[in-house]
Amino acid sequence: MDVLLTVITTWLSVNFGLPAAADHPQVQFVDPTQLFAVHTSQLSADEIARMRSDGNTFDDLVAVYDDRSRTIYLPASWSAASPADVSVLVHEMVHHLQRFDDRTFACIEAREKPAYAAQARWLEHLGTSLEQEFDLDPMSLLFLTKCYH
Ligand SMILES: [Zn+2]
Repeated sequence: MDVLLTVITTWLSVNFGLPAAADHPQVQFVDPTQLFAVHTSQLSADEIARMRSDGNTFDDLVAVYDDRSRTIYLPASWSAASPADVSVLVHEMVHHLQRFDDRTFACIEAREKPAYAAQARWLEHLGTSLEQEFDLDPMSLLFLTKCYH
């Protein structure tokens, strides 16, 4: 996993100008219930209520980065042999490297934009796409990455 994290960090730094932080996150493999618990523990009750009323069902939650413990939570079914699974790790690595970056974001969703952009580019290199692997068309992506307030 360490080698893979180094490769992804270098790739993100070269292609997206993110800091090439040498500090790797911890990586933990958990079941979907734990994933959901970690994700919602990062949000305030207001944020959860707002996201739910905006139509976010949290059903599409595939991984979580926990800022406080610098941990990437991946599903137990994650495999380094799957391009889609590795792209999820790329996405979460963007969130990890955002920690080391000075850029600030207007809302939680705005942090997602560069993460999805990197994930999309990674999949493109492997001849696939967010739409093919995750059913994320441009409209759904806009929904996940734009600020509402
Ligand atoms: Zn994300």
